[in-house]
Amino acid sequence: QADEETFTFQAEVAQILDLMAHSLYSNKEIFLRELISNASDAIDRLRFERFSRPELADEGERFQIRVDHDKDAGTITISDNGIGMSRDEVIENIGTIAKSGTAEFLKALTGDQRSDAALIGQFGVGFYSAFVVAERVVLTTRRAGLDAGDGVRWTSDGKGEYTLESVERPERGTTIVLHLREGEDDLLNGYRLRTIIQRYSDHISLPIVMPSEDGGGAAKTDADAAGAEGGADDAGGAADAGGTAVAETTVNRASALWTRPKSELSETDYHDYYRHISNDFAPPLAYLHAKVEGRYEYTMLLFVPSSAPYDLWIQQSRHGVKLHVQRVFILEDTGQLMPRYLRFVRGVIDSADLPLNVSREMLQSSRAVDHIRSSAVKKVLRLLKDLAANDPGKYAAFWKEFGAVLKEGIADDYDHREDIAELLRFTSTHSSTQDADVSLHDYVDRMKEGQDKIYYLLAPTLAAASASPHLEAFRKKGIEVLLLGEAVDNWVVTGLVQEFGGKRLQSVAQGVPDFGGLEDDAEKEAAEKATAEYAALLGKLKAILAGQAYDVRVTSRLTTSPACIVANEAVTDFGLAQRMRGSGLP
Ligand code: ADP
Ligand code: MG
Repeated sequence: QADEETFTFQAEVAQILDLMAHSLYSNKEIFLRELISNASDAIDRLRFERFSRPELADEGERFQIRVDHDKDAGTITISDNGIGMSRDEVIENIGTIAKSGTAEFLKALTGDQRSDAALIGQFGVGFYSAFVVAERVVLTTRRAGLDAGDGVRWTSDGKGEYTLESVERPERGTTIVLHLREGEDDLLNGYRLRTIIQRYSDHISLPIVMPSEDGGGAAKTDADAAGAEGGADDAGGAADAGGTAVAETTVNRASALWTRPKSELSETDYHDYYRHISNDFAPPLAYLHAKVEGRYEYTMLLFVPSSAPYDLWIQQSRHGVKLHVQRVFILEDTGQLMPRYLRFVRGVIDSADLPLNVSREMLQSSRAVDHIRSSAVKKVLRLLKDLAANDPGKYAAFWKEFGAVLKEGIADDYDHREDIAELLRFTSTHSSTQDADVSLHDYVDRMKEGQDKIYYLLAPTLAAASASPHLEAFRKKGIEVLLLGEAVDNWVVTGLVQEFGGKRLQSVAQGVPDFGGLEDDAEKEAAEKATAEYAALLGKLKAILAGQAYDVRVTSRLTTSPACIVANEAVTDFGLAQRMRGSGLP
């Protein structure tokens, strides 16, 4: 071909390709899951783009993903009638440039084939898994809205280079032909392929079809699947087997899981679906499935993962909730449905009230969305509360992974501050470990007779906190102190949770030690006597430290250390001031 052009993969991509070919063999079936998931994303994207570009709606055929194989040629073909790609998009998405997740993926690898294979989808390198089984991959695609002459063919043997050429392609969408490596004949079998699809891709809500010749048997019929889908598609109905030579069978269930009644769904169904939407192979820690009817009608299926995704702390990290309108995927949440401090929640919200052509801008001013958001937040917080009450072990695991994120909610979500405060867990002088397992409730329940404050110590690290001389007097008196050593803890204690259950929070490193109702008269007297006795010394020290120290005092707060620096009560917590300087906060 005249315009054939050769490109070189970037080093990281080449490294991934090499890994696919040589190290992930024991989980080779995953290629099908990844390519089907891309096909499904491509159709979702087209459906969405059509709302704003009605000209794309012309081609009204039924959305579907096809999986085919050819024993003689040694190929498996996966095709979709989704959005397709332009030449530039091919280069950008699967070509030279490594995507943002690529480097993280390489870092996250463990060497264990099973867990490494599970990482592929999470880091957005799924397409390359084709090279686990294929020695050559040919992808032909044409973007919706472009001319038939704007088709592109991408070919690669996964060894560092790929070629691009222009081709004529009348139908939009993407076709991927895998030329299998020698010895992969076991995959050239309809029954085997169908089993893999049902295992990994049953929850794709679009029909995945295969030729019926070897698709018969246990497969569901096309009409069944179309009925289950409930007409979410434009064309709908069964494939016109009469018009084509080869009849097709839908091999997956092709229905949106969240639309099915809870009573029909098992724990395994939920776990499988979670794996499908999250690419996380560990089961979720907790989930909720609720159908709400009333002024607004919506369904939510939300999951709390058992471990944090790699991008949890990246500024632009993805939110995990997908908005659907009447089962049609509309967009990924960017904060309209779940606040940032719940960004770890994964799942689906399906509204019956929003228009199908809803845009991000419309979401911001929609009453229905406000309502859904507030109800989703309440439900998630309630789910966490139940988890804490009924399964403290699981809740501890949750707190370890996501506690620091949830804490942001204390500052960000005034309305739910109290609910969030109940979910907080702290390290405290009560226990000998540094585990954060003390709730404010626990603390209040253990408060001493006459104690009216919740004491805390803020320090740059937990180790610094627990070694602080500020604790000496509190230890001696047997008063529990919460130890805070995380950057977000500033926000938790200063002004945000100034009070819990009617008790004020009080820093032990600030001002004159304030033992509230626990003040010991004898101690107080001794300190006053000492102050008088050492007045001359205190005067000298004050003069020497003029301009550096606000005051020099005799204290009863220490038992073994000779002296300590204390923040002025009028200013701000010393630990906080230090941290703020370090973190560049105002
Ligand atoms: P991810 O799906 O997580 O983005 P992949 O490696 O699986 O990562 O795919 C990379 C990108 O290639 C996709 O984001 C998409 O832009 C593009 N792509 C892959 N397969 C298709 C397809 N069948 N149709 C359109 N675009 C596709
Ligand atoms: Mg993918």
